Amino acid sequence: MAESHRRRGLARAMMALLAETAKDAGCFEMWVGTEVSNMPTRRTYLSAGGAEDEEHLVEEGGVLLDHTSFRAVRPVEGGPAGLIAALKDAIGPRGTLVMPCWTGDDSTPFDPAETQASEDLGVVAETFRTLPGTVRSAHAFAFAASGPKAAEIVAGSLPLPPHIPESPIGRVHDLDGQVLLLGVGHDANTALHLAELMAGVPYGVPKHITINESCRPVRVDYRENDHCCERFALADGWLRSRGLQREGKVGNATSRLFRIRDAVALATAELARDPLIFLHPESAGCGDCDAARASIATGAIDVD
Ligand SMILES: [Zn+2]
Repeated sequence: MAESHRRRGLARAMMALLAETAKDAGCFEMWVGTEVSNMPTRRTYLSAGGAEDEEHLVEEGGVLLDHTSFRAVRPVEGGPAGLIAALKDAIGPRGTLVMPCWTGDDSTPFDPAETQASEDLGVVAETFRTLPGTVRSAHAFAFAASGPKAAEIVAGSLPLPPHIPESPIGRVHDLDGQVLLLGVGHDANTALHLAELMAGVPYGVPKHITINESCRPVRVDYRENDHCCERFALADGWLRSRGLQREGKVGNATSRLFRIRDAVALATAELARDPLIFLHPESAGCGDCDAARASIATGAIDVD
C-alpha cells in the first residue's frame, strides 16, 4: 500500500469486506500466513479479529531439516530462494536450516563447490547450496546447512553407508531437530534410513561411489539399506495416531512436520517387531524391494 494511505484502516476494511463476501459464498473459516518477523502484518490480522496459532509450525532457534518438491509448493514469491528465505525467517537467526545435498553421480568424484545436488533432491536444495552462508559436506553423501549448527552438522568424512549415526542425518538426530517434508511424503524421509541402520536391518544392496585419492578417481563399493522406500509411508500412521505429526498446506503442497527423534523411535520400535516392515512383500513385484530381500543372504550391513 502507498505510504500516504497506510495506517488509515484500509487493510482492515478490505478484510472485513472479504470476510462478508466469503461468508455469503458459504465459507466459514479464513486463514492467512505471514513471516514470524512481520509484526505490522501480524498486528493488522489480529486487529481484524484473527487469532494466531498457539504453536508455531517450526521451532524458532531449532534445527530444521527440509525436503522440498518445489513443483508441488509453487508458486512461491521469489522462487526457490524466496522459499529458503521464508524457512530461515521461521527458524530465526538462532536456527539452523539443513537440506540433503548429495550427488546423484556415482562415477565422478564429488566436489562440494561444483557438484550439483542430485536432480531428485530438487531445485530448492540445489539453490540452497549456492547461497552465501551455506556450508556443505566435503563428501558425496553431502548435506548443506546454514546457521549456528551448520558446520557441526555437515562435518566429517564419507559415511558408509550414507545414513549412519555418524553422518549429517545422525547429527540432526543428536541435535533433536525437526523434519519438514514440503510436498513430499515419507518416501523422501532420510531419517528412516537412519532408523533402519540403528535397528540393524538385515538387507543391504550393492552400491558404489567414486572418490578422489591422490588426484585419481577410485571406486569404493559399499552396501546400502536401500529399496523403493514407498513403504516409508507407514510412518504417517505411526506419527499421526500419536499426534506427533502436523500436516497442512504450504503454498499448494501437502506438508508434514515432526521431530526426527519421534520418527526414528517409532520406526526402530516397528523394525524390532518386523525387520522387513519397509519392504514390499514378494508378491508385490517390486524390483527394488526384491533386491533388498535377496541381499539378506549376504548378512547385515557392517556399519563400522
Ligand atoms: Zn518396494
